[in-house]
Amino acid sequence: MWIVPEAAIADLITPEASFQAVESVFAAMASGEAYNFPVVREAIGHEDALYGFKGGFDRSGMALGLKAGGYWPHNLEKRGIINHQSTVFLFDPDTGKVAAMVGGNLLTALRTAAASSVSIKHLAREDSKVLGMIGAGHQSHFQLRAAARQRQFEKVVGWNYHPEMLPKLAETAAGIGLPFEAVTLEDLGAQADVIVTITSAFAPSLTAAHVKPGTHLACMGTDTKGKQEVEAALVARATVFTDEVAQSVSIGETQHAVSDGSLKAAEITQIGAVINGTHPGRTAADEITLFDGTGVGLQDLAVASTVVEIAVETGVAVEVEF
Ligand code: NAD
Repeated sequence: MWIVPEAAIADLITPEASFQAVESVFAAMASGEAYNFPVVREAIGHEDALYGFKGGFDRSGMALGLKAGGYWPHNLEKRGIINHQSTVFLFDPDTGKVAAMVGGNLLTALRTAAASSVSIKHLAREDSKVLGMIGAGHQSHFQLRAAARQRQFEKVVGWNYHPEMLPKLAETAAGIGLPFEAVTLEDLGAQADVIVTITSAFAPSLTAAHVKPGTHLACMGTDTKGKQEVEAALVARATVFTDEVAQSVSIGETQHAVSDGSLKAAEITQIGAVINGTHPGRTAADEITLFDGTGVGLQDLAVASTVVEIAVETGVAVEVEF
């Protein structure tokens, strides 16, 4: 089996390669070539940790495996390591033998940023000029950089529940040559053509009244029952797309609109259908489109497979008899 350690990943995978891997696997999910297994997520009763598995099989990319890991809230303060910890395991679909073990921490950020970026490519107006960011935590920097690759943005406007975190996001914008302005939610909605939300909120901040016609939203933070970033009325007003419908209605941003009856699961489209050309995606310049990115195991397998290929080619992967 091959081992690709966490520390090696940053030098191996490019944002383009992550994007390609995620776009392909979303397409395979929509055409029925790839499917995710039921997610396991458990509070293990030790260190307040949440631990689980996300797995699947992609027949088109021949990726089989799982991401194991979760959230250890005391890691940083007690041990100086990050709270989110994960590892991807890939298996040979022909034999069931383990094929690779790959560090999953950076890959999680890259595949999540690639997902919203795929949605922007396929759903945002071509003439989008202003990128709105809601959230300024760990993931937001990856999200900003990936989103900026998809349109000729001239400016970034940002809002965060903890405003003291915004200057760091402004530095990330400056790093790719984009001016950044910290704004109110009203200003953000009035200016932004594309809005990425990436917070751990359990109550909505952005409302339907904030957002102008023609906006594309990528709601990326809600991945658990009870979390919520935008008002349910905004979800109900938008044309809604997601990575996987079952996950979107149970743990994603659409859970609230579905449970209050303002959106039906049948009205939600897998983004892969747009990639494959079986759904038209945006059909009018004044349409509000919303992508609910809940994060599926197949995304992890896709980027991990890409990393293993590159790591083997470049001699970085460590081979172990197993
Ligand atoms: P982080 O802890 O680094 O940042 C948290 C962000 O949420 C910050 O912007 C913070 O100000 C904001 N926030 C905290 N409490 C809030 C509140 N009460 N109201 C509004 N905002 C609040 O976390 P991160 O690593 O950047 O992750 C952000 C979110 O993305 C988390 O919910 C995480 O579970 C989720 N996530 C989703 C995926 C996916 O595939 N969809 C992947 C990774 C992470």
